[in-house]
Amino acid sequence: MILFVHPPVAKPCEPPAGIALLSSVLKAADVPVRVLDANLEGISFLFEKGAEPVCPGEDPWTRRARRLVRKNLALLKSPDGYRKPAEYRRAVSDLNRVLEIASSPEAQAELANYRDKELSPLRSRDLLRAAAEPERNPFYSFFSRRLDREINGNGIRLVGFSLNYLTQALTAFAMAGYVRRRYPGIGVVFGGGLVTSWMRRSRDLGPLRAVADSLIAGPGEKAMLRLCGKPGQPPAGTAPDYSEFPLGDYFAPGRILPYSASRGCYWMKCSFCPENAEGQPYQPVPDENVLEDLSRAAARVNPVLIHFLDNAVRPSLFQALIRRPPGIPWYGFARITDHLGKRDFCRGLRESGCRMLQLGIESGDQRVLDELGKGMEIRTASLALNNLKEAGIATYVYLLFGTPAETEESARRTFSFVAEHSESIDFINAAVFNLPFTPGEQPEHLTTMDFYDGDLSLYRNFVHPRGWDRKSVRRFLEKEFFRHHDVRQIILRDPPSFTSNHAPFFAVS
Ligand code: SF4
Repeated sequence: MILFVHPPVAKPCEPPAGIALLSSVLKAADVPVRVLDANLEGISFLFEKGAEPVCPGEDPWTRRARRLVRKNLALLKSPDGYRKPAEYRRAVSDLNRVLEIASSPEAQAELANYRDKELSPLRSRDLLRAAAEPERNPFYSFFSRRLDREINGNGIRLVGFSLNYLTQALTAFAMAGYVRRRYPGIGVVFGGGLVTSWMRRSRDLGPLRAVADSLIAGPGEKAMLRLCGKPGQPPAGTAPDYSEFPLGDYFAPGRILPYSASRGCYWMKCSFCPENAEGQPYQPVPDENVLEDLSRAAARVNPVLIHFLDNAVRPSLFQALIRRPPGIPWYGFARITDHLGKRDFCRGLRESGCRMLQLGIESGDQRVLDELGKGMEIRTASLALNNLKEAGIATYVYLLFGTPAETEESARRTFSFVAEHSESIDFINAAVFNLPFTPGEQPEHLTTMDFYDGDLSLYRNFVHPRGWDRKSVRRFLEKEFFRHHDVRQIILRDPPSFTSNHAPFFAVS
């Protein structure tokens, strides 16, 4: 029997798609599998702990946060909670406060974050220390008991940890260290997006093999089948199986169905894109199969929302969804293409159930977009935003400041573009550019240097070729961009902690 674990901390609002797919593939090959969403259960454990009777001398905020834990969780799980943004924000802030006080003095969890005062997930020696001292992890009393129950009661012989975010890394290693120490005969495997990035983009992962018997890069189905003595190709067209997850317990106002209609990206031309740096080929699930998968999964899961996990949903799939709507609201990432510049197409998307599109517009300057290889016209982005607004589809716009192609003047063009379209933009994610680290590759014309103090860093620092360095970019964002009245209104709308995962619930219905 194999146990797949989704470790804390990741946003606890939907079941983990990666291990749902793996377990489905292995079950189809007659390999017995169990799944454990240790993220959802671990966070719920900390909430129970934090809701314990008030300690004397605590400040009023902490007392209120402890007292209201159950009420605040109920608010996140109710559609009503999303009709009152101010109450939602207060509930999330109180819940994060409870997680903070229920954590340990050394390390603190939040709904979408994990911080250790001494250890960094970017240093292999710190991950090994997390594995050697699992007791210092705030989830220890939860996961030690929970892993004992899973392992002893079910004849587990292999534990697979799915690691997708840096916020999961230290706890994943603490859990693996616990398994190693207490059950030396049981194998430990690490896979997932973060492990893939480390293996494809980073350096020597040798030290991590002291904890893991295997590290798997990329889609894990084939490698897991081989580890289970079933070599060969995984069956094509297997859909994720969410039947063993506690679907009613996630922090959302109804069930969310996460679904990947592809791996990689159909565009693959944007320079400095981490997806490109990792060389993941584009592997689409055929449009008709997607529609059938969704229809079958919807019948089993009864979701209120479909979350497309694709890097960019391809136009042909949009057309398929317009032809045959899934009957359930949905959202996901889209590239700005000519399709979105057409009003009828956007109306068709809305009629197919589209509630929100995540759009990587990145810059308002055409020269920057061209140099980044985005393959989009800023004129089309403008049309798309207006058409989507008119159709009733919310937009979550991603902006990237400080790319090597950008100058202060281009950043100001982006600023003007956002200000001019503020009525059509519902949410913004404005990030400062990080240069992906690719071993053996030196980007042309860029002088690069180490960025973070860690051997597992996925990024490098660089000397900006146009003098538009990170410090200047941050100053511009803080002193001008975020202070602009309309931009500030959009930023304030962003759901704290859950961001784009909860944004569709605030979008027009
Ligand atoms: S569309 Fe997105 S995922 Fe695809 S290459 Fe561009 S940045 Fe990367």
